[in-house]
Amino acid sequence: MIIKNLKSEKKIILTIDFEDFFFDFSSEIKSNQIKNLENHLMKIYLEIEYILKENSIDKGVTFFTTGNLIERYPDLVKEISLKNEIALHSYEHNSPKNLSYEKFEKDLNDAILVYKKVLKQDPKGYRAPNFGVGDDINYYKIISKYFKYDSSYQLNNFLKEEKFDGIDEFPIFKNNFLLPSRIIGGTFLKVFPYYMIKKFILECIRNKFYPIIYLHPYELNTDFSFYVNCFKENDLNIGEKLYWSLRQLQWIGYSNFFVKKKLNFLLKEFKVLGRMENFLG
Ligand SMILES: [Zn+2]
Repeated sequence: MIIKNLKSEKKIILTIDFEDFFFDFSSEIKSNQIKNLENHLMKIYLEIEYILKENSIDKGVTFFTTGNLIERYPDLVKEISLKNEIALHSYEHNSPKNLSYEKFEKDLNDAILVYKKVLKQDPKGYRAPNFGVGDDINYYKIISKYFKYDSSYQLNNFLKEEKFDGIDEFPIFKNNFLLPSRIIGGTFLKVFPYYMIKKFILECIRNKFYPIIYLHPYELNTDFSFYVNCFKENDLNIGEKLYWSLRQLQWIGYSNFFVKKKLNFLLKEFKVLGRMENFLG
């Protein structure tokens, strides 16, 4: 079933897609560049903890974490799990729509295996990289075999409810102003001014959904540590090298300073519902 905000409460759900952009993007462009960013990610995590504490969010939030990050930095993930829920965000951070159903299921299993090994329990929640499961019911059937809830579905009305037999769905509300914008995270959180973000959030609430904020570690960071040099060790052609260099500026470089400010405004104005695992239907 779809989790709804039937009373139109002024509440938001804060989530973190806790992934290592450098590792994921470097693998995606088939570069062998390796960088250990554990200390860096820890610093960003502590900053998130500080923001949560400042806003009296005592019981933690949900961190959607990739299997590859759990495998490489188990101590960091254990530390986060002391105060927050760890859910999964795939093993390799490939968008599911680029994978066959078999490969998608294998990726889930790889992530679950490392999760259990490190955290000694079963994960409850899942979010697809790039929310890349679209409307394809077969992906949701596979997800529901392993998880109690999912937060990958993008919608702007209550139709298509029937997909979610056997799993609780926290949908990402889509606003169709100018471009379809997801409520609200990533580039949308960066480029829209605060008054617009607030307008989108209120629209989501009017439509009886919970606005979901999805933050990435590289958005809270201003020192370019996650930047992958596309001109080194890969098979991209010159056009692709330039394209991916610029796209990275959009993801990890542009206006990160303002993300923190907007987040602080949001947390002052809307009450945050904590871990997703605590309010399943
Ligand atoms: Zn992601």
